[in-house]
Formats: sequence, structure tokens, C-alpha cells
Amino acid sequence: MPNVHRIESRVAELPVNAYLIEGERELVAVDGTLTVSGGRAVRTRIDELGKPLAALVVTHAHPDHYGGVVEAIRGLDAPIVATAGVDEAIRSIDAGREAILRPMFGDEWPTERVFPTQRVADGEVLGFGDIELRVQDLGPGESLHDSVWLLDGNHRDVFTGDQGYNRMHSYLADGVGCENSDRPPEWPGLQGESSFVHCTRPRLGRAGLAPDRRAQRSG
Ligand SMILES: [Zn+2]
Repeated sequence: MPNVHRIESRVAELPVNAYLIEGERELVAVDGTLTVSGGRAVRTRIDELGKPLAALVVTHAHPDHYGGVVEAIRGLDAPIVATAGVDEAIRSIDAGREAILRPMFGDEWPTERVFPTQRVADGEVLGFGDIELRVQDLGPGESLHDSVWLLDGNHRDVFTGDQGYNRMHSYLADGVGCENSDRPPEWPGLQGESSFVHCTRPRLGRAGLAPDRRAQRSG
């Protein structure tokens, strides 16, 4: 069964997670953090694990998930995978984020960013040895376009991007709102105690929503 490693990057008190899925022979990365140091931390862990990186998937169109990808995969052949909507949204926002993030983070905001190189459709399953990942395309959500990735055969592991938080606050300023998407995510193994979903989507009732949902609505 694949093993999941979490890499936390913390810059200016902003914690950001990326993940490495370790299969028998290969690795798949989920997101790349915001910063140069965050991306390099992902890369250090890749090198420590000593297995080739088969792909890096990007969950959604926020810079704290794609910004550090350039450092995470520097010199590697791994494709950067996302849905078409996430890919388009990242490319559409990137130039504008430079003006906001450079003053905030200085050299920690990568001078060069990289974008998805491979697009996947909703429901598509990607296989890398014993790692099977299925994407669910959510449309506008916590960012201009969101997706979640499920590790098939092991439904405990759902990579939600910022759809699923643990008692922390989602980003609200994109203002698109989860209600714009017309169907709920399918997260069959989501455990109520392990994930708290920051989302106004009314059908997401299973994951202990009340305190956090109230917080988001007040934003
Ligand atoms: Zn986000």
C-alpha cells in the first residue's frame, strides 16, 4: 500500500502542505507549496526517498500550491498534471500574483514559475505502478478552479487541496464560493475527525462542518 508523506512549509506564519505518495517503485507529489524554500523541501524529501518522481499533481489555482513546483521538480522529467480548468486558472492569475507576492515574500516567491504540462479530465485515473490516483474536477471553489485527488484502493487518502482543512481557514478573497459547483465531491473514506471541510456546499454534511462553516460564511 502506498505511503503518504506530508511536507509542511511555513513562511511568514503561513503553513502550507505538500505531499509525496510513495509507491513501491515511484513517487507522486501533490502540490508544490508557495516558496523557494518550500519547493526545495519537497525536493529534498524526494531525493531522500530515493525513488523517481513519476508526476506532480496540482490541486487548485492558488500560488501556495503551484509556486514552489519549479523548485520541487527542477531538472526532473516528471509531468505537472492538472485539470484543464486548474491549468487555465493558474496561467490566468500568475502575472497578477507577482505584484502581490513579491513585496510580501521577496526572494521566497520564485522568480520563475512553471505550469501544468499534462491535462486530465474529470474522473480520469492515473496509474504509476501501485499508485492509482483519480481526479475529481470541482470547478470554482476555494480558488478559481479546484480539484481533489483520491488515492484509489485506499480511500482514507483524499488530497483536497484547500477544500479540506483541519480547523483552519480557507482563502476567501477569490470570492467564487463552493456553491458554484453543481455536485458534491465524492470522498468515500473521509473521516469526520480527521478533516474539516471549509465549504459552503450544503450537501457536505458528513465532516463536522458546523464551526468552520460558520467561520467561512462570516468571511
Ligand atoms: Zn487555496
